[in-house]
Amino acid sequence: PIESAFPKAHHSLQSRVVWGSRVVTVGGDAPVRVQSMTNTDTVDAIGTAIQVKELALAGSEMVRITVNTPEAAAAVPYVREQLDRMGIDVPLIGDFHYNGHRLLTDYPACAQALSKYRINPGNVGKGNKRDTQFGQMIEAALRWNKVVRIGVNWGSLDQELLASLMDENSARSAPWDARQVMYEALITSAIDSAQRAEDMGMRRDQIILSCKVSGVQDLISVYRELAKRTDHVLHLGLTEAGMGTKGTVASATALSILLQEGIGDTIRVSLTPQPGEARTQEVVIASEILQALGLRTFVPSVTACPGCGRTTSTTFQELAKQIDDFLRAQMPVWREQYPGVEGLRVAVMGCIVNGPGESKHADIGISLPGSGEAPAAPVFIDGEKRLTLRGDNIAQEFQVIVENYIEN
Ligand code: SF4
Repeated sequence: PIESAFPKAHHSLQSRVVWGSRVVTVGGDAPVRVQSMTNTDTVDAIGTAIQVKELALAGSEMVRITVNTPEAAAAVPYVREQLDRMGIDVPLIGDFHYNGHRLLTDYPACAQALSKYRINPGNVGKGNKRDTQFGQMIEAALRWNKVVRIGVNWGSLDQELLASLMDENSARSAPWDARQVMYEALITSAIDSAQRAEDMGMRRDQIILSCKVSGVQDLISVYRELAKRTDHVLHLGLTEAGMGTKGTVASATALSILLQEGIGDTIRVSLTPQPGEARTQEVVIASEILQALGLRTFVPSVTACPGCGRTTSTTFQELAKQIDDFLRAQMPVWREQYPGVEGLRVAVMGCIVNGPGESKHADIGISLPGSGEAPAAPVFIDGEKRLTLRGDNIAQEFQVIVENYIEN
């Protein structure tokens, strides 16, 4: 038999990101988690809470918010309070740079309201201040019993570490190329920082690591090596992936290759929203990547053909979109009412060539009439042809059939 290509199992520890009774396990045998980040000013606590809610309802299992000023730190407990009032228990992650040590020390209510702190070792302070400031953030995590993510990013890499690795490299008889030194600096920064946190008393499973870069091949190289060198939980994402199709394709390509190898315990798709595009799009894409790989199932899947010269009308494209939109819109309610509904497979096909075949593979499918075919649309349920729709209301009638199928 041909060996299944199903993604490899993960080999990391397991972290617990907690808010109240909500526990999001990350790593180990937990499913790969989807996370995202707001782009609101955290000082606007209501606006931030609303966006966190939207992201959470779209499927983000943790949401990161910017904590960059004393005002933002002071607003964090109010963001949390608003969310709790709305019944949204998604854990919040504080994104700290430069002044996180001060904010976490001076604003204990902020430190308490967050479930996880993101620390960037590239900007926690220079020279001998570095260890002190990093230490203050770890002390806050220990005091409040929070998880940290040591998030290295090549846009803000520790320049002292990079310079020292460059010096080391130039002394080599066969020097590495500059890119390899950069990879080494990213990984060393993450692993050494984790070691310092452990030396201060953090457990390994309380530390999540990431080494984000914006190039697909660079990300694959760095994470393959990172996964070899550590059993820490890994947060995975292609940083600054860009906009629209480019950002989506680059993220999906990089993340899928690594996830297929069992690398990555939680993911974020860092898309620049296009004008008018919802922030939640990055959550939808992250979820779709995991679903396409067969790692998670979030929403029923709609199989639809691309259409071709045999397609007689755009009805089937409209129907496919209508069914897809309908299923997604219903999911927040259906998830509670009909356990397992996310595994539903629906097929909407344009003609007899592949229509009946795909429809039989789905739980429920329809094959619309193509050119030269009789004006009839056979409907397949659980692999068998059950009825044929005719006339001008095929789309509406099929939607009712799908609803009835789910309810029954
Ligand atoms: Fe064309 Fe029919 Fe194939 Fe759809 S199923 S792409 S309409 S041949």
